[in-house]
Amino acid sequence: MTYRTNIEKCPKCGERELGRGKQNGYAVMLPINKAMSFGSEVEHIICTSCGYIVESYVKKPGKFKGTMD
Ligand SMILES: [Zn+2]
Repeated sequence: MTYRTNIEKCPKCGERELGRGKQNGYAVMLPINKAMSFGSEVEHIICTSCGYIVESYVKKPGKFKGTMD
């Protein structure tokens, strides 16, 4: 799955080359109140100059439905 972003440059430093990274393993995002869930990897759009995380996404957003109760 590929995410599209409408961010054209880093809002902090103005760098135009952005990269994509993902967190997995112990850094997965876990749904609150769903103790038995495995959670979802997190993917980030990152400035390649200053390292600022411009956008973050979970790979499986459907896992987080019903967690605002
Ligand atoms: Zn930057």
